[in-house]
Amino acid sequence: MTIAFVGIGANLASPQAQVLAAFDELASLPRTHLTGRSSLYRSAPVGHLGQPDFVNAVARLDTGLAPQALLQALQAIEKAHGRVRSFRDAPRTLDLDFLLYGDERIAAPELTVPHPRMHERAFVLMPLLEIDPGAHIPGRGAVQALLAACAAQSVERLAA
Ligand code: ATP
Ligand code: CA
Ligand code: CA
Repeated sequence: MTIAFVGIGANLASPQAQVLAAFDELASLPRTHLTGRSSLYRSAPVGHLGQPDFVNAVARLDTGLAPQALLQALQAIEKAHGRVRSFRDAPRTLDLDFLLYGDERIAAPELTVPHPRMHERAFVLMPLLEIDPGAHIPGRGAVQALLAACAAQSVERLAA
């Protein structure tokens, strides 16, 4: 079993409900246990502005799935939530980013782990730190220090 982390984001069609449903679907994946779930957070959109705020969270999994199989499973869940890929940074019903897979570094055409932009995103680092205070990103360093460098980004924890 390998400890993996998944970033969850949504900003369409009742985003909080989309994120909560995603936790349940991650818990139901084969050979996988959901072993951590962060609070929900609200963040402003990046890239393409003028769209609703995002709801974000991070899930911790213990999984026997190989990385490619886990990526495919995440994409199947996105598809079931009606995810349509239109343009870069477009609004979406559900986005599941494969953040970490143990201490592994993966550079395949369709999968880069650690996720190549996670270390500069407060909406990923804050929920990750909540469920794993000692978290470390291979090649980047301690999540706590990386988050301190993102202080300008506003991310708000939503009431439980
Ligand atoms: P960002 O990656 O900056 O968060 P995004 O989530 O909007 O942007 P997507 O359209 O969801 O990007 O993903 C584009 C492609 O990224 C996918 O087709 C997938 O194959 C590839 N990809 C590479 N590494 C990863 C990863 N670690 N997690 C998820 N997808 C990845
Ligand atoms: Ca993403
Ligand atoms: Ca994605």
